[in-house]
Amino acid sequence: MAKEDAEPRMGRPRSVRFNSLFSEDEFGEDHPSASPASGGSSWSDRAPSLHPPAADAFPGSSPGTLSDSMEGTAATSLLSPTIRAGWLDKNPPQGSYIYQKRWVKLDTDYLRYFDSEKDTYSKRLIPVSSISRVSSVGDQKFEVVTNNRNFVFRAENDADRNEWIRTLQQIAEERKSRAGARTSMSLAADSATELADKSGFLELRGFKHKLFVVVAGDKVFLYKNAEDYRLGIGITYIEMNVGNVKEVDRRGFDLTTPYRIFSFSADSEQEKEEWVEAMQQSITEALSNSEVAERIWAVESNRFCADCSSPKPDWASINLCVVICKRCAGEHRGLGPGITKVRSLKMDRKVWTEELIELFQQFGNIMANQFWAANVPPSEAISPTSGSQERRRFLIAKYREGKYRQYHPLFGNQEELDRALCAAVTTSDLAETQALLFCGASVTCDTGDPRCPTPLALAERSGQRLQMEFLLHNKTSEPPRLEMVCSEEKPYSVHLPSITHNGFLYKTPSMVKPISERKGPEEFSRRWCTLQDGVLSYYENDRNTVPNGEIRVEEIVCLVNNPLHAHGIESTFEVYTEADRLYLFGLESPDSAREWIKSIAKSFVHPCAEELLALDFERLGRLHYKGGLTLEHAQQGWFALVGSTLHVCSEDGHQQEPLQLRKLQELSIQGDHEVLVLVERRRTLYIQGERKLDFLGWVHAIQKAASSSGDTLSEQQLTESDVPLLVDRCIDYITQCGLTSEGIYRKSGQNSKTTSLLEVLQRDARCVCLKEGEHQVDDVANTLKRFFRDLGDGLFTRQWAPHWLWATALEDEGAKVGEYRQLLAALPPVNRATLKALINHLFRVQCFSGENQMNTHNLAIVFGPTLFQTDGKDYKAGRVVEDLISHYVEIFNVNDQEMKKQQDEITAIMKMREASSSGTQQAGDFICTVYLEEKKTETEQHVKIPATMTAEELTFEILDRRKIVMKEKDYWSCFEVNEREEAERPLHYSEKVLPILHCLGTESYLVVKKQMSMENMLIYLASRVGDCKHGMMKFREERNLLGLGLSTGFHDRYFILNQSWLRLYKEVRSLRLRSPPLESSHKPEKEWPVRNLKVYLGVKKKLRPPTCWGFTVFYENEKHEKQQWYLCCDTQADLREWFATFLQVQNGGALWPSERPRMRVARPQQDARLGNISLIPLRGNESEMRNSVAAFATDPLTLLRNV
Ligand SMILES: [Zn+2]
Repeated sequence: MAKEDAEPRMGRPRSVRFNSLFSEDEFGEDHPSASPASGGSSWSDRAPSLHPPAADAFPGSSPGTLSDSMEGTAATSLLSPTIRAGWLDKNPPQGSYIYQKRWVKLDTDYLRYFDSEKDTYSKRLIPVSSISRVSSVGDQKFEVVTNNRNFVFRAENDADRNEWIRTLQQIAEERKSRAGARTSMSLAADSATELADKSGFLELRGFKHKLFVVVAGDKVFLYKNAEDYRLGIGITYIEMNVGNVKEVDRRGFDLTTPYRIFSFSADSEQEKEEWVEAMQQSITEALSNSEVAERIWAVESNRFCADCSSPKPDWASINLCVVICKRCAGEHRGLGPGITKVRSLKMDRKVWTEELIELFQQFGNIMANQFWAANVPPSEAISPTSGSQERRRFLIAKYREGKYRQYHPLFGNQEELDRALCAAVTTSDLAETQALLFCGASVTCDTGDPRCPTPLALAERSGQRLQMEFLLHNKTSEPPRLEMVCSEEKPYSVHLPSITHNGFLYKTPSMVKPISERKGPEEFSRRWCTLQDGVLSYYENDRNTVPNGEIRVEEIVCLVNNPLHAHGIESTFEVYTEADRLYLFGLESPDSAREWIKSIAKSFVHPCAEELLALDFERLGRLHYKGGLTLEHAQQGWFALVGSTLHVCSEDGHQQEPLQLRKLQELSIQGDHEVLVLVERRRTLYIQGERKLDFLGWVHAIQKAASSSGDTLSEQQLTESDVPLLVDRCIDYITQCGLTSEGIYRKSGQNSKTTSLLEVLQRDARCVCLKEGEHQVDDVANTLKRFFRDLGDGLFTRQWAPHWLWATALEDEGAKVGEYRQLLAALPPVNRATLKALINHLFRVQCFSGENQMNTHNLAIVFGPTLFQTDGKDYKAGRVVEDLISHYVEIFNVNDQEMKKQQDEITAIMKMREASSSGTQQAGDFICTVYLEEKKTETEQHVKIPATMTAEELTFEILDRRKIVMKEKDYWSCFEVNEREEAERPLHYSEKVLPILHCLGTESYLVVKKQMSMENMLIYLASRVGDCKHGMMKFREERNLLGLGLSTGFHDRYFILNQSWLRLYKEVRSLRLRSPPLESSHKPEKEWPVRNLKVYLGVKKKLRPPTCWGFTVFYENEKHEKQQWYLCCDTQADLREWFATFLQVQNGGALWPSERPRMRVARPQQDARLGNISLIPLRGNESEMRNSVAAFATDPLTLLRNV
């Protein structure tokens, strides 16, 4: 006892060494100690002036609070705030009657006691998780019972005692209920054992016996012995965010903290090195958490919440560039990501790029508030004590309405704002960019410079990294609006080119109804017509000066070029006007008619859509439509129909990818013939029926163009990959329901059913859904056969079929395959795609010949005559099919990956069917939980996953349900998240979901969220030279399963990633210097086929990755042996580049659909400002549709008024 008191007090901990910091006497429960509360135990080194610098910088925090004076940095105290603390008498060990006065402190993880309230390191720590019972034992005493030890404390009075008991019981209870739900990040007894990064015995100066020391995560734990470690009852823990490790001599090293120095000594030099490494990594880990916060707080104004001035704000809005407190962050979230994107300084490590941190340092609260809070009336300002309602009101006014902002002088002048933005982003003037952006300048405005079309590109060219960062985070930000900004419909006024044309035309009287029957020649009258000065006039004859009538070209809304002989006059065309009138003109000469049509078209089509004039259109005109980014109000577009292609130009002059009407997924008329909905794979267009006459004409024309127009392959409705929808539907059905059906394709179905099914499918395959139970496998199989047998021109075409048959005579197998390949290349694209789809299907069918009895030969007997439309008397046709199936891979150039993908799909289907036949699941009803943005109960969606569903379709499905508009460059993707590995992988858009689902472990789930780095990855890939990547990365192999203490850590390795291999080299020199390199030196240390790698972003924290830019990689070889390893890059950009290269190699090119997902929007985002009207639901019940379509049809302004 005297020994403790004799300890010298510590002055400057980093310079003073302690000979005996504490002794074994300190294990107070064993030895009585009379040290008074103020006594200088060895733990209490009294270094009150040694707060870390950041802590001193908060004048707002009251100096006397416990957490401030006792805990090290803010990061420490925030993790487990003290719940209760006070002086208690600790019961004496057996045989002694003197109580020891102890400062006892309880947080959510530990009950600890100290010699004094000023101590940082406890004498004893008891994990809350190990407390099994707390009870009063009389005489103001209470007992804390753990599995094997009891601790008795005595309070000053009963009230104090009861309060301790109550609090302890409550915390222990909470811990128990939490323990079931998830593993706590804190290292409680039970988890410390499994999370230990390094553990073992070390000498600590001042102790007779060695202590058991454990490095776990960001802490170092001291235990009296291994038994205590097992039980979880420790002495203390050292938080490594304030630690520093230094080697002292051969076996000794110091762990220095501002509060004391721990002088350890290991058994051997090697042991020592391992300990030093482990502790250094623990420091890195501890610092990585608070590093961002510390750096951002280095700027004075960032140390207080930008909104309410609370100290130590550890949240931020990364687009507004403000640092905010937790309470304000909660309210920010309520404003939605279009206004503010909330991230944690401490937890969202990945978002904090070097640029973003710098941006916050340079910009931060002070500059943000100079703009956003330029005019805050004192009565409206909030303080740290404001309630949440008050906060919400203030934040809405501040950021959503921009009520207090400093208006930019150019406010209200869009063009000038945009121009000023383009200028500002090339300078370092971030304040100007902020003011412009949040006063309405468009972050996506057109710069007029084709080489740098966006402000972002301008900033990049000027090397303004921070401007780029700021623009990137505000890509989807909405400018504040004080009142609802009404989108006024601009009156249609434009200077049209003046076209002159004249001549005689035949004409019928104008009509107010569609033309329903053929007009005979007698119904036409010959009129002299002139097109001049924007007016089309018709006269009785060419001598008259007063016209019979005239049409102003600006009133023309549609021009239709009828097929020849549609009426009694050879060539006719129709003109529709704004006033819902229809004029029919005709000419005997098609050439002259074409001249007229050209002239009229030129005269009325807006210059923005002049590309359409070059087309040989059947129908051309303007219509109102919604789509893409502007679902709130309809815009005018110019449409031209050519064959089955619909060309669209928006009024701002952007010609869009034409719609292939035969490939539409959905085509329907909603409401009372008011809206035509066209759904393509990645976009949806809503064409509005403004006027009756021309709209009806469009509807009929589009419907006709979207359906099969004949009996040849290319005239069918098609899938995206050019396979007739009918064929696709049948194959898909058989794959799902009939692969194991005996005699599939040989057995005949019911003739009448086959006939009617074929008829329905040919009429409109889009609307047919083949269902198990409703349709018989053999009927569907026969429908497919019948389709091919009756196909106009046949699958192999009349021209080429004889060549195919002839090729069967080639005896040399190789020559024959070569011939087939050439013949395949000669087929029209649709025939080629269809043949591939069919043979692929048959290849799969014969894989199950054990069950279905249909081997390749049997299938060939059936399909040869069907496809070649022969009687089947000779086997040549069958031979072709047999060869195609047998050499499927070579002839169709199918790669391994494609094969494996399909194999996985089929396996998944089979598993599902097995499950369904065993009664556990409905066939085809595989339901999966998918989260939106993050894993929370509120974001949970249950989705039925059909076998054909791709990741992209699943993404749309989830966004649809949540009514989220997929904006351009939003890059919503589906991620597979592995919780155990703390890693995630964005699924490729074309990846099928079902097989992934079947491999998903219990610690994995799917989440749909934006892929933040996609844009940068695409930019990188587009700008890169060559297609491989090499460079250094830090590499670590998965620790040996038995590997206690075999922590290998991360090591620098040189990697080369090309189109097929990832190779690892130990020595970079051997590659660079020896020239030409020797074969042996060139040999990689390891190599893996890239396609067999599964690459996840992220490395679990426990492995202490040296940087936060890491990958986790899984590899499975042919023998199904699994490997797992980790890679770390130095920068985020480097990580992106590696990842982009991986994805590109693995997916053979496109990372993102080349046709950007501009429009595929089922339901527009539910914006709070729009009330609850869902504008245009794509799916939903009939009445939902009607309601919203009714809303659509009304004045768009009404939608903007709050309901
Ligand atoms: Zn705040």
